[in-house]
Amino acid sequence: MNYQRSYQIYIFGLVVGVILMLIGYGYGIAWMGAAGIVIFCAALVQTAFFFRCPNCHHTMEFRGRKPSACPHCGQALDWHNNPKERPKQ
Ligand SMILES: [Zn+2]
Repeated sequence: MNYQRSYQIYIFGLVVGVILMLIGYGYGIAWMGAAGIVIFCAALVQTAFFFRCPNCHHTMEFRGRKPSACPHCGQALDWHNNPKERPKQ
């Protein structure tokens, strides 16, 4: 797993987790709210392991905007090097 995939999973877990929490607590479905918390936490925890600089392997800050470069070594991060995201030529 690379940092790009890790970030995608983080965003996915954030959105799905929050939606489940809102539905779960909004409608009084406790297990759904709990599942939302678990997914949310899992999405956060995996970034500690996988959201790392490809050059120096430090963990990177992911809250807020996507970093354009590693804060530790300055390695530029390419967010478009994913075949699925690459625009057709
Ligand atoms: Zn680095």
